[in-house]
Amino acid sequence: SGKHDNKDKGVNVQVIVRCRPLSEDEMRLNTAAVISCNEGRREISAMQNIANKQIDKTFVFDKVFGPTSKQKDLYDSAICPIVFEVLEGYNCTVFAYGQTGTGKTYTMEGGGRKKNGEFPSDAGVIPRAIKQIFDILEAQSAEYSVKVTFLELYNEEISDLLAPEETTKFPEDKSKKPLALMEDGKGGVFVRGLEEELVSSANEIYNILEKGSAKRRTAETLLNKQSSRSHSIFSITIHIKEYTPEGEEMIKCGKLNLVDLAGSENISRSGAREGRAREAGEINKSLLTLGRVINALVEHSGHVPYRESKITRLLRDSLGGKTKTCIIATISPSIHSMEETLSTLDYAHRAK
Ligand code: ADP
Ligand code: MG
Repeated sequence: SGKHDNKDKGVNVQVIVRCRPLSEDEMRLNTAAVISCNEGRREISAMQNIANKQIDKTFVFDKVFGPTSKQKDLYDSAICPIVFEVLEGYNCTVFAYGQTGTGKTYTMEGGGRKKNGEFPSDAGVIPRAIKQIFDILEAQSAEYSVKVTFLELYNEEISDLLAPEETTKFPEDKSKKPLALMEDGKGGVFVRGLEEELVSSANEIYNILEKGSAKRRTAETLLNKQSSRSHSIFSITIHIKEYTPEGEEMIKCGKLNLVDLAGSENISRSGAREGRAREAGEINKSLLTLGRVINALVEHSGHVPYRESKITRLLRDSLGGKTKTCIIATISPSIHSMEETLSTLDYAHRAK
């Protein structure tokens, strides 16, 4: 029976779907909800009425989160186990994939800001992961360090969301140039000049996120682009000093990448199917390459096309091998998003 079970193939890709609630505007306009979620059966059904014929499409995923699911539910059930792996020294990646406006950023960053030391209930994956990491590390006696980077990929160009402010004041400044992705000679890659921020407590995370989002907004107005067309990668690297039974010092290193992908409306259903990637540009290319990489890993199909896009080159050391990957596909329940929702469910299902 295990033929189609990822775990039996030694690959750990988990695909989950989250459906947001109807927005206030949508409710005011009496927008029909056409998606139903059965969390217990891990099913998503899309209902469509075409020429008076009711069409029902049902997809099964590893986990399903309906419109009333809370940030904490998703975190505790899907992300918490991944953070434990990272603390054991593995590299793991969580992707948010979906149409613009379906809750990718809400899921990854959340709506809340930390107020008077209180942890907001709508905090997303990034602040929750940081909190979990510090809760665990602070309860242990080992020495550790936690570093974060935050970058944006737009049109295959890398920009640093944490670079010091002065580098953005002068458009002519050479540090405004896109950062280069370099080979490290050992099969890995690194981004030259990327700011690494040392985090000393979970409280600092909101300042860091704020800095990154502010920078993203500035860049948007300067270059007249939309965040829906860029990918952002928030990476947390943890080093823990340990001792072998013989008393030898050993450094355990794990990395967690939290990726808010470009809006998937940029990838057409036919494009995905017929491979018409070229005409749809770089977003298509990176989302399609990502899909193919994950597919190749799940299917053990030999060649994994990491090199075909920057995002997969960047994440190469955290995809495949002994890593855990989680794809959170976000969808809208609205009838007006039906086409895009089916496309997202298709993409996500193919990654399984
Ligand atoms: P995306 O990043 O995919 O473009 P956003 O995260 O910006 O989408 O979400 C769009 C809007 O919907 C935001 O106002 C957000 O707060 C709201 N939203 C998204 N998902 C949820 C959810 N699960 N529960 C409540 N509100 C949500
Ligand atoms: Mg967003």
